[in-house]
Amino acid sequence: MKDPQIVEEIRYRIDIVEIVADYVSLKRQGGRYTGLCPFHSEKTPSFTVSREKQYFHCFGCGTGGDVFTFVMLRENLTFPEALKKLAERAGVTLPEQKLTPTQQALRTAVEQGRALHRRAAELFFRCLREDTRARQAREYLSRRGLSDTVTVAFGLGYSPPGWDFLTERLVREGYAPEELEQFGLIVPRQGADGYYDRFRNRIMFPIFDAQGRPVAFGGRVLDDEIPKYLNSPETPLYKKGQHLYGLHKAGPAIREKGIAILVEGYMDVIACHQHDIPQAVASLGTAMTPEQGRLLLRYAPRVLICYDADRAGIEATVKAGEILTRLGAQIQVLTLPDGKDPDEFLQKHGASSFWQMADNAPAFFSFCYSRVASQYDLTTVAGKVAAVRELAPQLLIIPSAIEQEANIQWLAREIRLSEAAIMEELRGLSRNTKSYLRGDRKENPRNTNYTSAQKNETESSASTVVKGLPDRTNGDRQEQAWRYLIYWMVGTPERVRWVFERLGNEIPQVQGPLQEILEALVAVSREGQGVLVGRVAEGLVAEETKAYFSALLVEDLEGALQESVLEDCVNTLRYGWLVEEIARLEIQVEALSRSGDMEALQRLLPQLSNLQQARSRAARRFGAMPLGGRWEQRPWYKGGTTE
Ligand SMILES: [Zn+2]
Repeated sequence: MKDPQIVEEIRYRIDIVEIVADYVSLKRQGGRYTGLCPFHSEKTPSFTVSREKQYFHCFGCGTGGDVFTFVMLRENLTFPEALKKLAERAGVTLPEQKLTPTQQALRTAVEQGRALHRRAAELFFRCLREDTRARQAREYLSRRGLSDTVTVAFGLGYSPPGWDFLTERLVREGYAPEELEQFGLIVPRQGADGYYDRFRNRIMFPIFDAQGRPVAFGGRVLDDEIPKYLNSPETPLYKKGQHLYGLHKAGPAIREKGIAILVEGYMDVIACHQHDIPQAVASLGTAMTPEQGRLLLRYAPRVLICYDADRAGIEATVKAGEILTRLGAQIQVLTLPDGKDPDEFLQKHGASSFWQMADNAPAFFSFCYSRVASQYDLTTVAGKVAAVRELAPQLLIIPSAIEQEANIQWLAREIRLSEAAIMEELRGLSRNTKSYLRGDRKENPRNTNYTSAQKNETESSASTVVKGLPDRTNGDRQEQAWRYLIYWMVGTPERVRWVFERLGNEIPQVQGPLQEILEALVAVSREGQGVLVGRVAEGLVAEETKAYFSALLVEDLEGALQESVLEDCVNTLRYGWLVEEIARLEIQVEALSRSGDMEALQRLLPQLSNLQQARSRAARRFGAMPLGGRWEQRPWYKGGTTE
């Protein structure tokens, strides 16, 4: 699907700064541009664009990439769609695409799946309006107070009882039963030939993608039958946790008002729209996913969570709140009185009461505090400590240091403890976790133990945990050397060769993001000419590495990279190798002297002494930096063994 030459051509002709400037107001700062991040909510700019490297990175939420990534995320497009958009802008004509048979088959399947869903939605829709069997369903909907306008707007339908309403019609229209099965509309009979309809005697809610195309269905029973709701399974068109119900209708209103309302179910979304609250979307039965969170925050930075007030609803609220907090959203929680859901509440009290309550809805953290406060005796020290511990995960995941501090101050006042005491408690708790507390940011994310709240969310944590490069002043010199070199090497394959020829075999061990980046860099430098950035980026898999890479590329290093600096970097790495090699030999020497193998020992000792001399020579040349001393404190200095 991707023609690398075309992609390179577009990258070459388009300036990422111009494209980003269409969405973000950018300020020039030295060799780079900064502005407020369009992917998370922030008040001080941490979104950075490098014209030199044609790359962006947000030091707040960790999102980063090239111009294609930017357009895909901002406009909610697939890669081919972004390619088309940018090709037009660049004046590049895209060749007719040659697809492999597999790609062709998938594309055909997706297109047919869309047509199929459109047709099925039409049949259900017509059935609800015209079929005599739908009388009960129509009565049900009018009893629930749904207007005709809103029923039409959301394309509600009805699947009659019986087994073959859809099967029979669609097969007659030429669709293959296997295809209907692939898209989850029909189910093969057990122990017999043939198929039957998945949805029977249910009110049908088409689930639309953000572009307003039906991609799946949810069906609700009319009585108390179980399950109340039945959804399409995952298909080539529909992946669970990727869509938000109602977004195609709510999107413009969310953008305009700057706030989204997150509710639980189909009926809540529809009731909100009917009462002129068009910003409502639902996470579709399942708990909210990070993907849904990111999708939502593309429209607005603020979210009002309004789930049911029962136990399950409160748990879902906490989960959604945590996901959205990590993404930098401003969150309020609206708990409706008497355990009502938005649908019931709006019918009884109307939209103005809803907005009144929404205006006074507490922020997510204060919602969490109220829950915890009711569980402990906050007049005792033990109760306070327990409460702070329970709230710690919610504080630790706040990406903005300023907001985190504000919440700590707020909590200190509420719970009557000093801020310092709370900070101390948090530090203690976060020692084994990746902490966002200031001054505590530099830890290897690979060794992270997530807090229990984060454990289920490794995918999102990976992208938000690494928010940029480690603090440079405390940073390890070797890592810094690699960063300078990588920044320079992504220019051309010749540069990659220059560095690795100089290093020869004397390459110190690398791990984590650096390792992945270097492997990708070396691989693409062997393949061809030209700028390597894009192809390296495509080769990266781990979210952590992608964030690391984009943070590195938007550093303002261009002026600093003179040849002498590059030579220094190479020497730093060779020195690092030297230290590792010495450590390795020392361990061998120790083992040999314990076993008494004098012969082997005599071969090894001169080698070790040569390396040690080389190390002191190099250390003298390097001047003031106590490199060896620092490295010797590092765990791998022990030669990577358990010693
Ligand atoms: Zn951001």
